[in-house]
Amino acid sequence: MNELVLDDDLKENSWRLFKTQKNGYKLYSIGYTYTVDKPVLSLVPQASKVYWKCEDRTCPGRSISCGLNPPLKLTQSHFGHEKNINRLNELETIKKLKEIALNSNEPPRTIIRKTLIEMSTESIS
Ligand SMILES: [Zn+2]
Repeated sequence: MNELVLDDDLKENSWRLFKTQKNGYKLYSIGYTYTVDKPVLSLVPQASKVYWKCEDRTCPGRSISCGLNPPLKLTQSHFGHEKNINRLNELETIKKLKEIALNSNEPPRTIIRKTLIEMSTESIS
């Protein structure tokens, strides 16, 4: 097994930033997904510190980053739920769907159906 690959994989999965529909952000990091806690969304791009809270609203998990840049520093541990590494696949699928929808004349219903077929084929193989 190649340790370098594992390191790269960890690095890759410790900071995955996604834009949400309402111009917000979702940040996936090693099994946990965060939304912005502070500042207000309009100030996030130029903020020197961004405060993140766990996507699970019942969880006290919190993290901080310098602007929208890695690394992410965990300031309060997650509690009451497991890591969910499948969430990264979900976020990437949603992103993919949006990209396809933006560049396609097909109705969203058709695009979603095609992508779901593609996904289920991937998980079978
Ligand atoms: Zn949490």
